[in-house]
Amino acid sequence: MSHVAFSDLRTAAYCPRKCYYQRRQDDDDRKSPPEVTEIRELEPRYESLLEASIDDLGAEPIALPLAAYRDRLAETRQRLEETDHWKRLREPDARNVLATGRHCRGIVHKVLGDPLEPVLVSAGKPPENGVWESQSVHAVAAAKALAWEHERSVERAWLEYPAYGAIRRIDLTTRRKAAYRRALRAVRGLDGPPARIDNRAKCGACEFAEECGVRTRTLRSLLGFG
Ligand code: SF4
Repeated sequence: MSHVAFSDLRTAAYCPRKCYYQRRQDDDDRKSPPEVTEIRELEPRYESLLEASIDDLGAEPIALPLAAYRDRLAETRQRLEETDHWKRLREPDARNVLATGRHCRGIVHKVLGDPLEPVLVSAGKPPENGVWESQSVHAVAAAKALAWEHERSVERAWLEYPAYGAIRRIDLTTRRKAAYRRALRAVRGLDGPPARIDNRAKCGACEFAEECGVRTRTLRSLLGFG
């Protein structure tokens, strides 16, 4: 059976129907937009960002007020230095590794050793606490791929949000692994458009809403036809 891409698992965890639309796109359309790459490129430069003047920070793709960003990043560094993780995260064993597991494959942005842990770098905004469900599924996929390649268990993973100066570590719990397996089944079962999800917030942020018919349906319901 062919390997499922991390990106498909992440999207299927968000909405299986969105994954169906995304897989029909050309490869060119599926490439990360330049803004995503620019934000990810903040990550190797945290030290210089912490030293930079506010004026210099103004030229960076930072999502918070500049002084607040510098404070947040400094707090993150301090917290992770206290638990001896900052150095591991700053000097990973490898960067941008294509990892292939038993069922899935994709790029792991950083690989930490001792213990073996994947780090994913998100261009988006972190949730209030923890990480988004789709990122949790992506992180489990990355951990499983590394575990398969290195023949070692992986118990935790990291998410970094460089535009917000936030770094979060997650345990790969039974619940997270079950969500990963659900996403894997959803991707493998895609042979037509799955049912729409019932989540206005997700549909409102979905680039396929028009094609999916969600906008049209919303208008029809407002007019009393839905
Ligand atoms: S609009 Fe909603 S139901 Fe349709 S693909 Fe997007 S997230 Fe899924």
